[in-house]
Amino acid sequence: MGVAACALCGQQGESEDVPLTWATSIEGGRKLLFCDRCARENVRSIEGKMDSVHW
Ligand SMILES: [Zn+2]
Repeated sequence: MGVAACALCGQQGESEDVPLTWATSIEGGRKLLFCDRCARENVRSIEGKMDSVHW
């Protein structure tokens, strides 16, 4: 396993552990990670996806 990397900007964490400030989103069975900055910028779309589980 490699280090945690942001799905949007590619920023990598310092270890395999996902930093607490990062956000995770499950999409299509894959776990996507968002760094604190991207999570803040995309918090609406991430939460929106969580809300619209019924496709
Ligand atoms: Zn990022």
